[in-house]
Amino acid sequence: MREPDCIFCRIVAGEIPCTRLFEDEQVLAFMDIGPIIKGHALVIPKAHYDPITAVPPAVLAPLLTAVQRVARAQQVGLGAEGINVIQNNGAVAGQAVKHVHFHVIPRFAADGHHWNWNPKAYRDEIELQTFAERLRQALATP
Ligand code: AMP
Ligand code: ZN
Repeated sequence: MREPDCIFCRIVAGEIPCTRLFEDEQVLAFMDIGPIIKGHALVIPKAHYDPITAVPPAVLAPLLTAVQRVARAQQVGLGAEGINVIQNNGAVAGQAVKHVHFHVIPRFAADGHHWNWNPKAYRDEIELQTFAERLRQALATP
């Protein structure tokens, strides 16, 4: 499965260069050209899927295994003290390339990076439970 205008499909096909880290039948890991922290890598399925909810479990499993491998390589090879694994879906969530990808970002105590993580609060316990119930109902519907 491939989308003609998809930049990551074109990378998989070798039409656009990338700095490859490893690949197997289903998965490709390569360097992000715009690293949040140097060593930032991307892990993608070779087949085109988007968003995350469209990825079959049989593809998701090797994808996440590859994410773990890259994270270990960042620990061993770069001395990463922490790792961020990020996966954006939809423009509103900050996704620019519409082919499922996991960002694997090595973190260091002195890297100077801060996420704009801005936690909110539920109005009250009832509001929290209302959200949870809507999710539980959706989860119960296959
Ligand atoms: P997202 O915003 O989650 O869609 O992230 C897309 C990521 O793809 C960004 O971090 C880009 O730096 C990266 N990217 C875009 N084009 C390339 C490319 N040709 N090679 C490597 N990374 C790329
Ligand atoms: Zn694609």
